[in-house]
Amino acid sequence: MTLPDLETKCWKCWGSGVIPWNDHAELMDCPECGGLGWIPTDEGKRLLDFLRRHLGLDFEEEEPAE
Ligand SMILES: [Zn+2]
Repeated sequence: MTLPDLETKCWKCWGSGVIPWNDHAELMDCPECGGLGWIPTDEGKRLLDFLRRHLGLDFEEEEPAE
């Protein structure tokens, strides 16, 4: 399933989700896309909002709140 209008390849990491952060070839999660490699377009963000509302999903809280 392709969703060409819902997301775009991250311009910073080019889809890899990670970027080098020092001269030792170490990698960190890309801050632009949060390590996903893809950035939702405006249409994609609307779909995400739709899913959150209608499915009760919450993609933002992956860590348990304690
Ligand atoms: Zn990225």
